[in-house]
Amino acid sequence: MSTTTDIRNLSLVEIKALVAELGEKPYRAKQLWEWLWQKKARSWEGMSDLPKAFREKLAERTLFRPLVLAEEQRSVDGTVKCAFKTWDGHVVEGVLIPTPKRLTVCISSQIGCSLTCSFCATGKLKRIRNLDAGEIVDQVTLIDDIALKYYKKNVTNIVYMGMGEPLLNYASTMQSSERIIAQDGLGMGSRRITVSTAGIVKMIRKLAEDGARFHLAVSLHAANDEKRDRIMPINEQNNLKELKEALRFYTRETRKDVTFEYILLKGFNDSLDDAQELVRYASDVDCKVNLIEYNPIDPGTSGSDFKGFERSSDAAADAFMRYLESKGITARIRRSRGRDIDAACGQLANKNAPAVKEGERVMKA
Ligand code: SF4
Repeated sequence: MSTTTDIRNLSLVEIKALVAELGEKPYRAKQLWEWLWQKKARSWEGMSDLPKAFREKLAERTLFRPLVLAEEQRSVDGTVKCAFKTWDGHVVEGVLIPTPKRLTVCISSQIGCSLTCSFCATGKLKRIRNLDAGEIVDQVTLIDDIALKYYKKNVTNIVYMGMGEPLLNYASTMQSSERIIAQDGLGMGSRRITVSTAGIVKMIRKLAEDGARFHLAVSLHAANDEKRDRIMPINEQNNLKELKEALRFYTRETRKDVTFEYILLKGFNDSLDDAQELVRYASDVDCKVNLIEYNPIDPGTSGSDFKGFERSSDAAADAFMRYLESKGITARIRRSRGRDIDAACGQLANKNAPAVKEGERVMKA
């Protein structure tokens, strides 16, 4: 093992082997594992019941590089946006969203994003790198501390809907969700975790084959290819027909339904014709639909080439939802939270990060 190995990239079997190699008693492996994944350790020094000499040997042999909370901003509605600094100087954002029944954490899976969805501030940033599983779990535990500080309660739900496309960081998404669910991890129920994808067809099939335990949400936003191509370039290589086939495979294999996320954009996808198209698309998929209020993104975000969309009126949103329900599709409208601090859906973007220039759009799915 080289000294460039991050300790949280090691499996329990590898940790046991390392502990043996360092001449420590076998039970130290379990203690160390608990500090890394259950007890929110943020430094070697913080692992207080491990002997100092053991910690020093670990620090010589491995790296331990947790995220650091750099900034928090609190919205008038109680939403808290956090900026986290990575060991290599980048910033990712996560959000705590309080509602009467839940304390939901929205976390990031990548630094930036390669998918360039036109309604999303993160899509204006360059993709720098994937976050590793430890960095993803750190967002949950750091925001859990904030939940305890402001609300005296632990977080209840986790959504992978922040910066980045989780299924293009597949290994870390799977590993981090397992650590969040595991009894020797954070011990949260699998039904409390939702992973949201822009619709990476081959990875949705892989999720089904691998028996993913979390709930899956799909950012749909348009139910015809021509419109979806315009706002989500990923659709050009993962079209709606292929997406539906993958989702039907997923629901059959996992016996779980999926959630379609649909941002209502005034005059673009919010008419009753659009609702009809959505019904035709969704009616043979086991699903429910979340209709999302659009949140304007700051034209100045990282010098982006922002071209504005507008939010649908409440009347159009209600009519759209009622139409879906009249056709037997479960639908609800998700109201925006944290809009005043740019913490709402689609608004996450570290404003000092490098932006994508025209002609630099990358789609790797
Ligand atoms: S919506 Fe998601 S996949 Fe699309 S650009 Fe934003 S972060 Fe990336």
